[in-house]
Amino acid sequence: MTATLVLTAHPGDFVWRAGGAIALATSRGRRVVIGCMSFGERGESASLWRKGYTLDEVKAHRRGEAEQAAKVLGAEIRFFDADDYPLVETPELLRGLIDLYREVQPAVVLTHAAADPYNFDHPFAHAIALKSRILAQAPGVEGPGEVIGAPPVFCFEPHQPEQCGFIPNVLLDITEVWERKTEAMRILAAQKHLHRYYTELGSRRGLQAARNSGPNLGLPNETYAEAYMRLYPQVTRELS
Ligand SMILES: [Zn+2]
Repeated sequence: MTATLVLTAHPGDFVWRAGGAIALATSRGRRVVIGCMSFGERGESASLWRKGYTLDEVKAHRRGEAEQAAKVLGAEIRFFDADDYPLVETPELLRGLIDLYREVQPAVVLTHAAADPYNFDHPFAHAIALKSRILAQAPGVEGPGEVIGAPPVFCFEPHQPEQCGFIPNVLLDITEVWERKTEAMRILAAQKHLHRYYTELGSRRGLQAARNSGPNLGLPNETYAEAYMRLYPQVTRELS
């Protein structure tokens, strides 16, 4: 089965930035596996800390939200519990990601963009996602499973793309799964303030998708979309 691997620093990231792509893939019978490197317990759970939760309670709460959101999107989810703020490379995290690549054998990889001056966990997650992808390709790197090929990597949209050098050169029409994305967003009560922002962003990227869709697709203005930045060249036999 064609699989998609989504590698994120924190639980909210896969919902806000790639929930539509995940729901779209699973609605078409594709397997989607999310590798969540931390629970976002320190950096992306401010409302829970203000309520007086302990560290373990924050982690458990975020884990629960992430599992529920993944279920709504039809995806599997694996947690690495590698600590956030700062998220740093450990031998266990690197090993775990290599093993996950080889187990899933992804045809598509989604992860963070290379830069984010507001959140250093995100560029770290980008770097280790690419590093483990390359190591998983090398027969000389030990571990279970077969080596992988060279799946294309799509970076999902950072929260403030203009500050991150993010060029939205891929616009994905997610209109048919928009309701599922909003359902997954509603689960993230710890980050409620982002709901309106990502609803408006979906609509704005949708308008841009319509504007850029050309004569073949001809998308209407009511489209919802997610933006991605493709990292490696697109390989094709025909320009379209
Ligand atoms: Zn994050």
